[in-house]
Amino acid sequence: MHRQQIVILGTGGTIAGRAESASDNVGYTAAQVGVDQLVAAIPALAEAGPVLTEQVAQIDSKDMGFAVWARLAARVNHFLAQPDVKGIVITHGTDTIEETAYFLHAVCRPAKPVVLTCAMRPSTALVPDGPQNLLDAMAVARHPDAAGVVLVCAGTVHGAVDVQKVHTYKLDAFSSGDAGPLGHVEEGALRMSRNWPSVPVDPVGVAIKTVSELAEPDRWPRVEVVMSHAGASGAVVQALQAQGVQGLVVAGTGNGSLHQDLEAALLQAQAAGVRVVRATRCPNGRVLPAPKDKIPDSQGLSPVKARIALMLRLMAPA
Ligand code: ASP
Repeated sequence: MHRQQIVILGTGGTIAGRAESASDNVGYTAAQVGVDQLVAAIPALAEAGPVLTEQVAQIDSKDMGFAVWARLAARVNHFLAQPDVKGIVITHGTDTIEETAYFLHAVCRPAKPVVLTCAMRPSTALVPDGPQNLLDAMAVARHPDAAGVVLVCAGTVHGAVDVQKVHTYKLDAFSSGDAGPLGHVEEGALRMSRNWPSVPVDPVGVAIKTVSELAEPDRWPRVEVVMSHAGASGAVVQALQAQGVQGLVVAGTGNGSLHQDLEAALLQAQAAGVRVVRATRCPNGRVLPAPKDKIPDSQGLSPVKARIALMLRLMAPA
C-alpha cells in the first residue's frame, strides 16, 4: 500500500539546541542541530512511514521575524498542495511558537494537519523532551482525522487560536486556557477531547491576503503591543505615533481596562487614524465588550495574536 508522506520542516529552537554539558538545561544555544539529524536520531519516526525533511530556518524563536514566517507559510502551502503529502510537522522554539501557529492558521488555513512541536530541554540534555514531542507530533500528523494547525507538547494537543506558553521551565509549558486542550497523545495513540479546528474561512474578520499576496516582509505594517499597568502614561503611545506606527494592541488590565492616561493617548492615536485593539494581559479569559467601549476588543485573542490579526487586517485590500 502506498503510504502518504509527512514533511518535517525545521526552524530551530531548543529542540535543536546544544549545551556543553548534559546536565545543563538552561545554558544552551538554541538552533544548532539540523532537522535531518533530529529525525535520524529517532528511528521509529521513519518506521511509521515515509518522511521528508527540510530546513526552512535555523533560529532561536525569540528572534522570529516576518521573512521566516513568509518563507515558512510558502513552504507549508507548497507541500500541502501535493497529494502524496498527508501533513506537516514543524519543529520550532517554544518562545514564539504560539504566534507562528496563529499566523499559519490565519494565512494558510490548512485542511490537512500542520503540527508544530518543540522542546523545553536541548537535544544534548540527559533526558531531552524533544524526541518524544516529535514522535507525538508525527502520531498526530498521521492520524486519519487530523486537520488544521495544532501544537503538540508534553503529550498534549493544543489548537492554534487558544494555545499560550505559560511556563518558563516545566516540560508541559503550554495551556489552552478556558478552552482546554484538543486532546492527548498516549503511547502513540490520540485521545481527542474536542473537535479538530475547522478550516477558518476568514479568521481575522476581513478577506485577508493569502501567502502569495502578502507584502514583502520588510513592508508589513508596523503594529506594536503596549501594556496598561499602575503608573502607565501615554508616553510610549505618543513616541510610537511619532514614528508612524499603524496599529497598536493594548494589553489591558482585567477585562481590557486601561489606565486613564494611557487610554487618553490611545484614543488620540485612534482619532488620528492608528488602528487600536484592546486585549487583556490576563492569561485566561477574554475581553467582554460593553456598549460604552471606545476601543474594539481582540475577540478573544491574546495580545501577541491580536497583533498578527491586526497586521493581516491592515494588509488586506480596502
Ligand atoms: N529560546 C528558545 C526558542 O524559542 C526556547 C525554546 O525553544 O524552548 O527558540
